[in-house]
Amino acid sequence: MGRGFVVVGVAVTVAVTACAVAAVVVGKRVKSRRKWRRVVGVLAEFEQGCETTVGRLKQVVDAMAVEMHAGLASEGGSKLKMLLTFVDTLPNGSEKGIYYALDLGGTNFRVLRVQLGGQRSILEPDVERQPIPQHLMTSTSEDLFDFIASSLKEFVEKEGDGSDTSLMRRRELGFTFSFPVKQTSVSTGILIKWTKGFGIEDTVGREVSECLEQAMARKGLNMRVAALVNDTVGTLALGHYHDPDTIAAVIIGTGTNACYLERTDAIIKCQGLLTTSGGMVVNMEWGNFWSSHLPRTSYDIELDADSPNPNDQGFEKMISGMYLGDIVRRVILRMSHEADIFGDALPKLSMPFILRTPLMAEMHEDDSPELTEVARILKDTLEIPDVPLKVRKLVVKVCDVVTRRAARLAAAGIVGILKKIGRDGSGGITGGRSRSDIKMKRTVVAIEGGLYTSYTMFREYLHEAMIEILGEEAAQHVILMDTEDGSGVGAALLGATHSSNRVDNVQLL
Ligand code: ADP
Ligand code: MG
Repeated sequence: MGRGFVVVGVAVTVAVTACAVAAVVVGKRVKSRRKWRRVVGVLAEFEQGCETTVGRLKQVVDAMAVEMHAGLASEGGSKLKMLLTFVDTLPNGSEKGIYYALDLGGTNFRVLRVQLGGQRSILEPDVERQPIPQHLMTSTSEDLFDFIASSLKEFVEKEGDGSDTSLMRRRELGFTFSFPVKQTSVSTGILIKWTKGFGIEDTVGREVSECLEQAMARKGLNMRVAALVNDTVGTLALGHYHDPDTIAAVIIGTGTNACYLERTDAIIKCQGLLTTSGGMVVNMEWGNFWSSHLPRTSYDIELDADSPNPNDQGFEKMISGMYLGDIVRRVILRMSHEADIFGDALPKLSMPFILRTPLMAEMHEDDSPELTEVARILKDTLEIPDVPLKVRKLVVKVCDVVTRRAARLAAAGIVGILKKIGRDGSGGITGGRSRSDIKMKRTVVAIEGGLYTSYTMFREYLHEAMIEILGEEAAQHVILMDTEDGSGVGAALLGATHSSNRVDNVQLL
């Protein structure tokens, strides 16, 4: 009897323990399912916040065209600065000689030398690129420009024709300087502000070509800035050199910007100021574009608030290579706070800009079944080991949402320009004529920048959105021309066009 009781007791204990274990297992499963649901919820909410339906993109198109008008009409009339470049002639193919160019504008710094043979021939340009030392980005004007002048001197001596650089005839230089500049002539301009992580206060308000020419003189270089342009203008020059139907240029690299050819009579703010009729290139500084129609999420708001330039460059912060990786990081961080799907301590994930856009692109474009690249990057860069496959898939999805939104917004910006100049097939922003009455002119837009040229998914999303917004028929007349390194070569071409020795220029439009 006593033994039987013990047996029953043991059986009960075993059963209770089994139940308890089962309850714990089930409980854990329920908990983990709940966590997963929360994480998926974060993604769903983010995806919804980033929505870019065609309807919304068309609102962005209209807003861009309206802001362009406002920016041209009066200084400070829009967040779009619509800066006049004084470039009213573009290279026409007859330029001859050796020209140098410098391209400073973001992650890389380039020195170039092109030999122009006339008859639209550019002999293979020599290009040397190097990253800009981080400390120089926030140092002094003298440090930065001395570095640039030294690199140029080294390049000229190495690649040049052997003549003494201080004795030879003064050379003309094209300078691509991709920051907002208030141009005072084609070769001079005042720096308005730094962007893209640069911040050298003693240069703001100064004449940029003078800073460079002084540094070149300090290094014994006998050179003159013949054209001071930004990367968009350089890209437009090269595009136009190859194809005279090129009317706009867009940069999508570390930052983003665009320029286009405007009729002088549309440039209301400088009426009476210009001596030429015809056209002029306008630098939009579109990175600063803003509209309530832009799909903005809490992550964008936080990224902006944490940036050194809050409330500035809103469009750029949604589109360009400097920021896309960090938006992804912020979403992943939020997911990990919501539920510890990546494990506990994640100091790396909290570090701003640790996830660079090229790595994000690699994760996005990982087509291996096990997403091994995603696993490697999460482990090596963010120090998150052993991420399960379904979480890796989630990370890829976040990259996709961020890039798709960026590419589609860039497409809407481009169509906004086309609309402003009546090349979108809709009859311009005042409307009037129906789509079918408009005969679209062949229109070329030159595009440059690492995000566009090296990130296939980005490029595909951009092309797809162009067709969605314009419609198949109109989109056939719009050609996006890839102009890798165009901003530098274009500046050399502009240096030649605006060289003091030339008189036979052809006016635009
Ligand atoms: P910059 O804008 O500094 O003149 P680039 O036009 O070469 O330089 O663009 C560099 C930027 O492009 C990088 O900062 C990066 O954000 C982005 N980028 C470069 N390569 C890739 C890539 N493979 N995938 C995605 N983004 C890239
Ligand atoms: Mg560039």
